[in-house]
Amino acid sequence: MKTFFKVVLNGLLFIIAGVIVFTTYQFNTYTPHAVTQIANPTDLKYFQESYVDCRRHFIDEADKIKETYKEVQISALKIESLVDPDLTIDYCYIPAQKSFKRLLILTSGVHGIEGYVGSAVQQMFLSEQVKENSLDELGVLIIHAINPYGFKYQRRVTENNVDLNRNSSTDNSLFKSVNKGYNDLNAFLNQKQKVSLTSFGHFFFQITAIQKIIRHSMGTLRQAVLQGQYQYEKGIYFGGKALEPSVKILTPLIQQIAEPYDMVFNIDLHTGYGENGTLHLFPNPIKDEKKKAMIETIFSGNSIDWGDKEDFYTVTGDFSTYLGDIIPEKLFLNMAFEFGTLDTQTTLGAIKALHNVVIENQGVQYGYRSEKDEKEVKSRYLAGYYPSSEAWRSKAVEDARQTLLQAIKKYRETNIRE
Ligand SMILES: [Zn+2]
Repeated sequence: MKTFFKVVLNGLLFIIAGVIVFTTYQFNTYTPHAVTQIANPTDLKYFQESYVDCRRHFIDEADKIKETYKEVQISALKIESLVDPDLTIDYCYIPAQKSFKRLLILTSGVHGIEGYVGSAVQQMFLSEQVKENSLDELGVLIIHAINPYGFKYQRRVTENNVDLNRNSSTDNSLFKSVNKGYNDLNAFLNQKQKVSLTSFGHFFFQITAIQKIIRHSMGTLRQAVLQGQYQYEKGIYFGGKALEPSVKILTPLIQQIAEPYDMVFNIDLHTGYGENGTLHLFPNPIKDEKKKAMIETIFSGNSIDWGDKEDFYTVTGDFSTYLGDIIPEKLFLNMAFEFGTLDTQTTLGAIKALHNVVIENQGVQYGYRSEKDEKEVKSRYLAGYYPSSEAWRSKAVEDARQTLLQAIKKYRETNIRE
């Protein structure tokens, strides 16, 4: 009998060891499924490899349409910084040419590093799509690089380690709020030592993550990590202690430009969430059924992630909702475009995406054991928000082209009394 138990126990240990080896191998060699479409050179010309180049191309595209419309404003807001005197939020505003009915605000780079793709989409929009729309009753405001520090230095967050999509709120009590679920995970998410990719904690990150998923469920965990936290200044998904300079400086500009319009529609461009090579429409939940119906009409034929999917979460202090809050007298609609990269709808993809954020932040806060580790961490991080694949980039622009074309046409037909 004793021998029987021994055999069973050994068998079990063997299976457990096998599972650990298998998932560790999968995790450390993880790549999302490939995007196979043939890249179109017309799409690729909108991509550049630095913040300064993206900004220059954005301004060039804006300059090209300046003469076509009345009263076009191309300008920049300087963001004060302790490390860089050349950080700007650039914008191009084309007022409605006859009557101020609807305003479209197309924003990029709220999460700095996601601005490479955001800039490409904005350049495409300026180059191809402004002229496709009658601007008689539609004003267009295109804002480039809302977090220029993160864009230039390839981080999601600002110079103050703040995630602008957790920071934007008209109510200061947000900064005192406590995310209890995050507190329990803090030690796991924010290790206080130099990054070494071969350390036990990182090499076996997925094992700890899976243990936590089993204990708390994926949904609870995702929500706790991603919703935003206001306690740990050096931690991931930190929402700040007060409004960040970018949000502060944009507030009066948005209020002033939106002032004459009846309706305002914001499309905020992001990357990193969802299936690789897929454009996801990912709004923060809306209670107002009338607005929800309007958004569904604008994006009819597209699938909107309203929160019924497995990988859904909500955030506190998101920038787009804030835009609506600072112009409360306007009918405000909004949508986030998320260009997926790492297949975060899968468990392994989600863990990989989280790990990329964890190690990048740990490296910034506490340094790296070796240059090799630093290079590897930074290149993994960039690939999660700005894939180098030409097929991926081309598809992102093409998806944006189709979706924006339809959405703006429908928006132009939307009436406030619907
Ligand atoms: Zn984002």
